Formats: sequence, C-alpha cells, structure tokens
Amino acid sequence: MFDIPFLDLPALSSATGTVALPGSKSISNRVLLLAALCEGSTTVQDLLDSDDTRVMLEALRQLGCGVEVDEKARRATIKGLGGEPGTPSAKLFMGNAGTAMRPLTAALALLGGQYELSGVARMHERPIGDLVDALRQLGCDIEYVGNEGYPPLRIGGSIGTSALKLDAPIRVRGDVSSQFLTALLLALPLVASKDIVIEVVGELISKPYISITLQLLQRFGVTVKRDLDASGQPGWQRFTILAGSNYRTPGSIHVEADASSASYFIALGAIGTCRNGPSSIRIEGVGEDSIQGDIRFIDAARQMGAQITGGPNWLEVTRGSWPLKAVDLDCNHIPDAAMTLAVMALYADGTTTLRNIASWRVKETDRIAAMANECRKLGATVVEGADFIQVTPPAIDKWTAASIHTYDDHRVAMCFSLAAFNPAKVPVRIEDPKCVAKTFPDYFEALFSVVGASKQQIPVLCIDGPTASGKGTVAAVVAKALGYHFLDSGAMYRITALAASQAGLDIVPANEQAIAAMARTLPVRFEDTKVMLGLQDVTDMIRTEEAGMNASKVSALPAVRDALVHLQHSFRALPGLVADGRDMGTVIFPDATLKVFMTASAQKRAERRYKQLISKGISATLDSLRADLEARDLRDSTRAVAPLKPAVDAKVLDNSDLSIEESVKAVLNWWPGLVH
Ligand code: C5P
Repeated sequence: MFDIPFLDLPALSSATGTVALPGSKSISNRVLLLAALCEGSTTVQDLLDSDDTRVMLEALRQLGCGVEVDEKARRATIKGLGGEPGTPSAKLFMGNAGTAMRPLTAALALLGGQYELSGVARMHERPIGDLVDALRQLGCDIEYVGNEGYPPLRIGGSIGTSALKLDAPIRVRGDVSSQFLTALLLALPLVASKDIVIEVVGELISKPYISITLQLLQRFGVTVKRDLDASGQPGWQRFTILAGSNYRTPGSIHVEADASSASYFIALGAIGTCRNGPSSIRIEGVGEDSIQGDIRFIDAARQMGAQITGGPNWLEVTRGSWPLKAVDLDCNHIPDAAMTLAVMALYADGTTTLRNIASWRVKETDRIAAMANECRKLGATVVEGADFIQVTPPAIDKWTAASIHTYDDHRVAMCFSLAAFNPAKVPVRIEDPKCVAKTFPDYFEALFSVVGASKQQIPVLCIDGPTASGKGTVAAVVAKALGYHFLDSGAMYRITALAASQAGLDIVPANEQAIAAMARTLPVRFEDTKVMLGLQDVTDMIRTEEAGMNASKVSALPAVRDALVHLQHSFRALPGLVADGRDMGTVIFPDATLKVFMTASAQKRAERRYKQLISKGISATLDSLRADLEARDLRDSTRAVAPLKPAVDAKVLDNSDLSIEESVKAVLNWWPGLVH
C-alpha cells in the first residue's frame, strides 16, 4: 500500500492483463453482521480486508462474537450471537464506515444493552436522523451525543422485545440513503415475533443496494415480502418481515468482488490501448450475473464505447469507440460506479451528463463537488447541480497537470488515476493515495500490474557516490518515501562476484567473458529485505568487506558491466525508481529526473564503516578501513569503464556532517516530482 503523502502518476499509455479484485465492501459488511446475528458459525470466503471491514470485525469482537480471521486465505469465521447481546455495554468506534455504522445502530437498538457509537469527524457529518426516527417509532431508546441527526449516538437500556411497538408500519425515508432501509431490513428479523411492515417514505434511491440486502437475507434464511407496484412487479415502497423469521447460517458464504471497484478496470479497458492494438483487461471476481447493482455500470460503459464480454465471475473489456461517446444518463441505480463515468467523460466526444445522483452529496465527501473541482483542475468544463454533474472534456492542449485532492474518499482517488491516460501526456498527482484502503488497499499495485508507460515517462532518481557515503541507506529511505522501486546496483556486482567465486571463476580479465555470460542470466530476485540468488538467500553473504572488494574488481570488467545493463534497466517500472550506484546517473539512466552525487570525506566514511562493523561485533581498525576505502575509491574512479564521478548535471551532497535523516530531507527537497 502507498503510505505516502502523494503519488505521482506519469502519463500512462497502455493497459492489458488480468486483475483479481478484492471482495465487495457492501457484501462483506452485510454478511459479517448477518453472521454475527445468527446462531452457529459462518465461514466467510473472500472477505475484503479493508478499513471498513476491520471496523466491523472489531465491533463484532467487542460485542462478544467469536471472530477468527485468516488474512492469507481471505477468510473469516464468525461465531454468532444467536440474537442475544453478547455483552451488556460497549463503546464502538466506527471510523468512516457507513456500512458498519447504520446497520449496527439498528441491530444494537433492537438487541438491548447500552452502547455508544462514534466515528471520525466526517462520520459525525453524515446524517443518521432518518434511521433514528424509524427506530424511535419502535420504542428504541437512542440519543444524539453531539448534533441532532448525526452520530455519535448513545443507544439506551434494554427495552425488551415485548415493549417494542411492532404493530404499526415503521416509516423510513428512502430518499437520503438506502442504508437506513438496509439497516432496518438486516436488524428487524431479530424481533419478528409478528409480521413487521416497513414503509418507505419518498422515492427509494440506490435500489440495487436493497436488492443485495434482500438476496443476502435470503441466504441467511430470511425472506422479505415485497408489495407489488402498480405494474404488478415486486415494489420498493412496502416490505414485510414475516412473523417467525429467523437467521440461519448458510455455513459458508462467498463474497463477490466489488462491482464498483471493477468499474475502474472496465474503464481502463475502454480507455487503454496496448502495443499491438486495443487493450484487453480481464477482471476476475465478479461477472455479469453479479447480485450488485453497480454491475450495471457495464451498460453505461458499453454506451460510452467499451466492448465487454463476461461469464460467471469474470469480465473482459477492450476499447471500442474512440474517443468515447458522450452520454446523458440517469445514474441513480449505480451511484458509486457512476463516479467512474465522470472521469471517462474526460475522454468523450462531447458533454456527458450524469443525473439523479443527489446521494453523492452525503457520501464519504460531497462527491459532486469533489468530482467537479478535480475535473476542473485537469482542464475540463464542469457544471454541477443539486443532483447532477455535467462534464465537458478539455481540448488536447488544455489538459493541465494537476494535484488531485482526494477528500479521504477512496473512489475519488481511484477514479482520477484514470486521468493519467490523457492525450496531452501530462502527469497526475494523487494526494493521500492510501485512502483507497477503505475498499481496495492494493488498488495502485493492481493498476500498475496492468498499465504501462513509455520508459522515458517513468521517473528515476539516481544517487551515486563513493562507498560508505550512506547513499544506499538514503536511497532506500527515499524510495520508500516516494513509493518507488529501489535498485541497489552495487548488489548486482556483489552477487556477480559471489556467483563467480561459487562457480570457481577467479575475478581476473581472462575470465571476463565467462563471468559476463553468467551475469547475463543471473537468477537474482529481491524479496522485501532479502536478496535471493536462485534458491539461495545471499543477503548477508554479499554484505561482507570481502564481497565489496570482489564487487569492485568484477565491476571493472567492461563485459560484465554491459551484461548487467538490461537487468538494471528492468527496474525502471511504475510508478518510479530510485537507483543507487556509481554509474546510475552517468551510464545507466542518463535521462534521470534527478541525479544526486552523495559524498563525504574519506575520514568520515571510514568512521561510519568502523561504527557499523563494531556494532556487528566485527573487529576493525580505522586506519586499515580508511586505506581500504581509498583503494576502492581509486580503483572505482580511475578504471576505464564507468569510472566513479558525478554526472555533469548531478547535484552534489557532501553529507560529512549530516545525519541520514538530514541527507534524506536534502534529497527529497531537491526532488521536483512530476507535478509542479
Ligand atoms: O555500493 P556497493 O558498495 O554495494 O558496491 C560494491 C562495488 O560495486 C563498488 O565498490 C563498485 O566498485 C561496484 N559498483 C559499480 N557500479 C555500480 C554499483 C557498484 O561499479 N553501479
């Protein structure tokens, strides 16, 4: 996950490959709550691991449910409460998870017990009054701790099922958030000693989410009766929970991937190309037969030009019409996925209007305002109204590199990553990229696994310099701070020298070609902090003084240097690279965005190495270390190929008197980023 202040996306040019999507947030949290309310154990397969599901799991634990999570297997086993409060009182923190806050409020109000539910500041601005009003009609005791109509809430003492007023229909507004109705539908089977009728007041929005709720209730043994509408179809105004309804665990249940998350990759298929023609993106985890309403995003994407095929649990998307076709659509049935349409509209042949989306205003942020502001920053013309947004794309030369504010809203962040395909090839900065963790913690990793950029567009920061200048440590920290890949080129030479000695090859010019041949096919892999040579963990072996000396010798052989070029170039991958080593800025990446030559006096470097060795319990003397360093400097700087010297356009950082943190700060201050 990118835990960095911002992520710069260079212009992206191609999209092709397969992505396996994480489980849906809406399904995950509904299933978890149902599993908690029923008796017995439920195994939830393919559960999403995200901020919102963690909030729910933690709440269930606090409420006394048995919760076992196997993160690797993406599975949780919930031992349910069987309709009884597991604990008489609890203070629950709901973060910004609406899918936990609303249904838990209803369930806890009916279970009995004393609870306090609060969340982050934004949660305290998200309305919940309509749900509280509905629960109060039943006789539930709920108080606002802060502002009337908003969390935090205090849910009061046990009312007892017999005291509940179940005879009159419960009226709930349906035109602000469908989550209020979902909350009641999920919770009322707890107390269905007689038929309970829910009447929706106002036009129900986001009906597909109610469908998900009804289908999942069915999986847990509860059938909800729907009154027919004027045309004789099951309607959306009156629902009856039948007397005697009881949750029954299905034993095991599979969570489909999030259809809204699929929308970014569907859009990618519609926008991207690949070298040999149209892109082809295969999406696994959700298919056309999904129970999620947002899957109808497919129809909208098709209208805009995407070519989509699919089967059970998979979809395949290629580019069809280009530019995309502007559309005018009612998006009430796909509220979340429709945000993706607003960004697809940036690639359309005219003005796109998305209507009936008032619910955007009460989501993680005011999404109409957010999408309008950020599209404008890119150069688009946007008109917004109470319940619509209208986007006209910028002319090619009017696209502007922009820093996209993401409002702690995962969908804003994911949507705007698609703007990096702009025809003007301007970069896009996504602020606070880790906000995607709400539903899709590895979104950017998944994106980078299927998109490409031309090598020249991928930023490189080179840190060169003599041995023991601290460049390796600084480069690794800088890479982490920027969310970039890290190339430790010295390790390549160290590994080559090790492989040569393991193969019985002395490092002498006579063996140059043999060692070079070996270097060309070196089976080297970098796994987190480990360096692997084939199946052998060589992390410690290549860090000895002797290995450094041998590396210095092997690196003076021109054919070996040549042989390692391709391997080093292969590290230049999205979203960027920090490369550490003697010739990074001069030979390997001469077009690097920033080159730093980091150095320190021989005395200081010898002192640093001395401290390092002594702390590892290795004996050494300062004088001999200094002599070794100077010998290595001399060999590295006087050798014929790639001698150690600053690139002409390098910024020199003498860090003799700087700490590692100060050196990192200095480098990051020089880093221009892609968006200025
Ligand atoms: O940076 P490190 O100490 O791991 O490098 C070991 C040796 O490999 C250096 O002394 C240098 O001779 C060689 N090297 C090189 N070119 C690089 C990186 C390292 O010649 N890009």
